Amino acid sequence: MSTAPTRMLEPHTPLYLDTPPHVITEGSGIEVRDAEGRWYVDGVAGLWSVTLGYSEPRLVRAATEQMNRLPFYGSFNHRTNDVALALAADVAEISPIPMGRVFFGNSGSDANDSAIKFARYYHWAQGRPERRKIISHHCGYHGTTLAAGSATGLSHIHHGFGLAGDDFLSAHCPDPLHPASRGMSEEEQVDWLVRDFENLVLETGPETVAAFISEPILGAGGLIIPPAGYFARIQEVLDRHGILFIADEVITGYGRTGQMFATTALGLRPDIITSAKGLSSSYLPISATLVGERVSEVLAEGSRQIGTFGHGFTYSGHPVAAAVARETLAIVRERDIPGHVCEVAPHLARGLEKFRGAELVRDVRHYGLLGGVQFDPEQAGAEPGRLGQEVLEAAKQRGLLLRAMGDTVVFAPPLIITPGQVDEVLERFTAAYDDVL
Ligand code: PLP
Repeated sequence: MSTAPTRMLEPHTPLYLDTPPHVITEGSGIEVRDAEGRWYVDGVAGLWSVTLGYSEPRLVRAATEQMNRLPFYGSFNHRTNDVALALAADVAEISPIPMGRVFFGNSGSDANDSAIKFARYYHWAQGRPERRKIISHHCGYHGTTLAAGSATGLSHIHHGFGLAGDDFLSAHCPDPLHPASRGMSEEEQVDWLVRDFENLVLETGPETVAAFISEPILGAGGLIIPPAGYFARIQEVLDRHGILFIADEVITGYGRTGQMFATTALGLRPDIITSAKGLSSSYLPISATLVGERVSEVLAEGSRQIGTFGHGFTYSGHPVAAAVARETLAIVRERDIPGHVCEVAPHLARGLEKFRGAELVRDVRHYGLLGGVQFDPEQAGAEPGRLGQEVLEAAKQRGLLLRAMGDTVVFAPPLIITPGQVDEVLERFTAAYDDVL
């Protein structure tokens, strides 16, 4: 393999590294092969996203057929393509909220930027242009574009880019291990979080807040599962102050939690849902922003006031991406992928639970086919993040690709994983843990 430095400006990578990146060249089922010919079980489905694995022939066929029939036609000025319209109907059919319309983009970030813009437009159309502010969580991840990056609560995403600013506010991370809530019962913690959230709204002025955005389960912030009852109580605050709720289901959408959407699994009542990743099993870039009926109607009213709705991308509803997404949804429904997740998830949970109480393990978390083992750097006298990286590297040596969010090593395998393959993931992870600790 070439050792020349890469000419690619690598996303989410320290740019000063002078070692070559790990290059993946091939995939099959739940495994990928690197440029040196080694195969790995992919414990994180690429970027939490290749839900149907790496060799689904129906998706390849859908893309090829659409490429041959109509490789591109956009969706501006009331002219669109048939596949985008059909996909919008498919998504509306499985929507967990009373649906208005679906907006298509290309990534999770642009879905969240779109949702934030729609929330502002919703208030503007009703004579409240001052409602611009967005509340998110300290540990939330919503992408890296200007608005989504500003709503992301991880400081390294802001540094140097001039993101966040007055229009973006951060609420406490709803982390059951939050140091400020040490010793509290789950109920007391919810009380504390909700009180703090409402104080934030009151201090900034509810009349200036457009929306609250949150992942149902916070992924990149370290697989944080908010305490039971948290969202229902936050919803009361949102209702009291006329604030919209955007559920970022970019990771959780299309089956990962054992339901088609985490909105259903957790009983949420969002006004807008953003999704991407699993919508096409990541075979092609596409995002969908599901706009609930109430918001959708107001957007149309607003547009009536000024004419064109001034938002959209060249590739909104790209026919080839839309064809792949349609086929993905067809497979997810035909094979009952959410049902399969419900069957396999307890297997992953049981395996991960064996680490609870193990040396240097601070916590173990799981929901559907999402899992996390959080290490305790304090106990090890290690700097934050190092243990996570070491376990990750050891897992790679053992033929297992995982990701680490700080000291939490996360699992988000393709949703087609079998119980036997879950065992293999757990065996390799256990070996990696033993190597390091
Ligand atoms: N929202 C969540 C919850 C994510 O996990 C991600 C990416 O991992 C995004 C948004 C951003 O998606 P993208 O990288 O496609 O812009």
